Amino acid sequence: MTNPFSNFVIVGERTNVTGSAKFRKLIENDDYTAALAIALQQVESGANVLDINMDAALIDGVKAMTTFLNLISVEPDIARVPLMIDSSKWEIIEAGLKCTQGKPIVNSISMKEGEAQFLAQAKKIRRYGAATVVMAFDELGQADTVDRKVDICTRAYNLLRDKLDFPPEDIIFDPNIFAVATGIEEHNDYGVAFIEATRIIRETLPHAHVSGGVSNVSFSFRGNEPVREAMHAVFLYHAIKAGMNMGIVNAGQLAVYDSIDPELRERCEDVILNRRADATERLLETAEQHRGKGTEKAATKDMSWRQAPVRDRLAHSLVHGITEFIVEDTEAARLEADRPLHVIEGPLMDGMNIVGDLFGSGKMFLPQVVKSARVMKQAVAHLLPFMEEEKQRLGTQDQADGKVLMATVKGDVHDIGKNIVGVVLQCNGFDVVDLGVMVSCEKILEAAREHKVDIIGLSGLITPSLDEMAWVASEMQRQGFGDMPLLIGGATTSRTHTAVKIAPNYQGPVLYVTDASRAVPVVQRLLGEEKGDLIAENRADQERARQAHLAGQDKRPRATLAAARANAAKLDFTTPPPKPSFIGTRVFDDYPLEDLVPVIDWTPFFATWELHGKFPAILEDEIVGEAARPLYADARAMLEKMVAEKWVTAKGVIGFWPANRVGDDIAIWEDEGRSHRAGTFHTLRQQMIKSEGSPNLALADFVAPEGTPDWIGGFAVTAGHGERERTMAFKAANDDYSAILFQALCDRLAEAFAERMHELVRKTHWGFAPDEQLAVDDLIGEKYRGIRPAPGYPAQPDHTEKRELFRLLDAEAKVGMQLTESLAMLPGSSVSGLYFSHQQAEYFGVGRIDRDQVSEYALRKGMDMREAERWLAPILAYDPTVAAKVVVEA
Ligand code: SAH
Repeated sequence: MTNPFSNFVIVGERTNVTGSAKFRKLIENDDYTAALAIALQQVESGANVLDINMDAALIDGVKAMTTFLNLISVEPDIARVPLMIDSSKWEIIEAGLKCTQGKPIVNSISMKEGEAQFLAQAKKIRRYGAATVVMAFDELGQADTVDRKVDICTRAYNLLRDKLDFPPEDIIFDPNIFAVATGIEEHNDYGVAFIEATRIIRETLPHAHVSGGVSNVSFSFRGNEPVREAMHAVFLYHAIKAGMNMGIVNAGQLAVYDSIDPELRERCEDVILNRRADATERLLETAEQHRGKGTEKAATKDMSWRQAPVRDRLAHSLVHGITEFIVEDTEAARLEADRPLHVIEGPLMDGMNIVGDLFGSGKMFLPQVVKSARVMKQAVAHLLPFMEEEKQRLGTQDQADGKVLMATVKGDVHDIGKNIVGVVLQCNGFDVVDLGVMVSCEKILEAAREHKVDIIGLSGLITPSLDEMAWVASEMQRQGFGDMPLLIGGATTSRTHTAVKIAPNYQGPVLYVTDASRAVPVVQRLLGEEKGDLIAENRADQERARQAHLAGQDKRPRATLAAARANAAKLDFTTPPPKPSFIGTRVFDDYPLEDLVPVIDWTPFFATWELHGKFPAILEDEIVGEAARPLYADARAMLEKMVAEKWVTAKGVIGFWPANRVGDDIAIWEDEGRSHRAGTFHTLRQQMIKSEGSPNLALADFVAPEGTPDWIGGFAVTAGHGERERTMAFKAANDDYSAILFQALCDRLAEAFAERMHELVRKTHWGFAPDEQLAVDDLIGEKYRGIRPAPGYPAQPDHTEKRELFRLLDAEAKVGMQLTESLAMLPGSSVSGLYFSHQQAEYFGVGRIDRDQVSEYALRKGMDMREAERWLAPILAYDPTVAAKVVVEA
């Protein structure tokens, strides 16, 4: 027998809140992850189209439709099928049309409100290139007889063809499937009416399709799934023969006509085809016997891998990041193995090796690997108690491939990158001792000895951490760490810095490891046979880097500080600077997270996962798109929850003060009297030789000199209250993937908060751009008037300016933000900076500065020269150690 469904388009119905209470609850609870899983299940069960309906009292249909469709669009396994946007509200349909890719189907339009509205909607649908379902519904109501069904569909067809030239193949008629066997006699013919109308429509209205919501037909047998399924199968069998070529059904629950119990089938047929007067009673009788029997087949998702031997099942789960069966399979493997450890060393490591190979050859990407690691961790967690028990019993101690200590150095708080490296190392069989963030040198070295680690890895994000790393290296030397390798990584570190500033402090190998992908091969080599080769290579490379550094040192002449000042920027202050709406600070104690989501800049999010490319193009990228899409879907789903359940609290404080430029500093006045200082921001000036007409900039140039009233603003915002606790909880549940995802999202929210707050400042609080209208892209691209430079960034590389900013904002008391000794901000996901309003204010880099400026700057700040040189180390145009020597010798 040929497959009766072969030319039949199955429209999955489970993503419909009116038809599925389960789906409705998920949407009401904003659980889009689980809702997506239902969509996926429908597709995997054979749905060719998904019907999506969000019409429910407690649901904001436009929002739910938009959210869900956007999530689907980045879920390639779902997005490959067309979507049927199902709503009785036109605005929901339009919202859906706006965010579908590919050719959508509208469900539905009709002549219920007359021809004019019908045609107007059809016209819009055409403009979106969509197909549409047309209900057999007119001004008099829904068609129930064959004649009414055919008449209405014919009238609609002619209107669409004649008035709009609507493509006939894009017209899908729904001649209404109503419930039969309800006990009301007129209802008994509803099945036949549909089938007959279908036959005529297909014969007389060329190229148009016929569809319908199949489960309506069995409505009176609610609660008796086996009978309902049999009725659906029988109904479809006859309707398809009559020409029905599309149907909304529960994909995965389609019974096959031939395999239905013959007696049940016959009685269903009697009812559907209205063949005998007692059909309903007879089906009711049989129905009782079948209740709860469950002819229901398991959804036909491809689960064939579950039949494979346990070793292959484990590999499958690891490669695909599936946690669902991992405990079960690990247990099965344990029962087969002599020792629990052998499960790790055998099948699990084999699986991870496949992952490693795929990763190494660029066929898997970081997010997928971290998901694999989650599977691995859960498997190991299952085995651990058995291994413990064995250890107690036998007194044995198993050795991992190697032990790596990881820490973010003192004063630094950022650890996403370090966490990723840790996870990737762990899933390659290494033991990782993660000391977390802000770890002092003493602690690091103490733990290294205590845990007998093989390698120490240091990470850091902000520039002062470079110094701290150099310090750890020199302490390793002093305390005799011999030849234990030291790995250096993190955003501010570099090959040159490692070679020039860190490696010389320690005789053991110091290796710069750029990213997580490199960490595994480096550690493997360091602990393997080729250790010597790698170390020798690295030493030679660092020697070259040092030579290049010396040779390439910027020996260009620089302007003296005096000359640079003479060439300062002269901004136009003839139009009086705008006055802020208030002076002093204002606190935002619990800023709505949902307002931040739309202004998230997603590009850096992907970079965190070592997926490089601009959002949203990255989702379609030929190489990384496949990894980026599920990551994005996971991120959006988690973000939904973060917002709905308030996983973090966004707090911020902004301030405005009367201010004037005084030399290269910005005086902050207590009040408009402008005689008493409330504080001072110090700025640094470019000393590079500029071409004619280009000024040597300092941030102070952007503020009016004394005599002209001007103001400056400052801000400190965070989305990190609550971050630590939840990150720990994820880690405790062996879910590093979610932990890292979550931290990366907190970061995104903090940056989005800075962007949103800046917008509010321009439009309202400072108010110099009340009419600004910028698209999100232009906001993220900072295409507005004014800037918000952050201390530690190129226009003011001195992190210590944050102290003054935090003091003026009273950030610690007001919003619970603190500075570490290296001037990293706590909580981790935080942003701070100054606001400048001038039209000509711009970002720039101070670049290298000379000794004359450093000593003058130190004096202005009341800092000792050595301390100033330490904070400004990355931008010194001279080597202070050499300079000091020259001074001593001279
Ligand atoms: N949208 C990005 C963050 C923007 S980075 C994200 O979501 O991650 C841009 C910010 O960095 C600016 O707003 C400013 O605060 C800071 N910045 C960039 N260049 C700077 C410079 N030259 N000097 C000072 N701060 C700078």
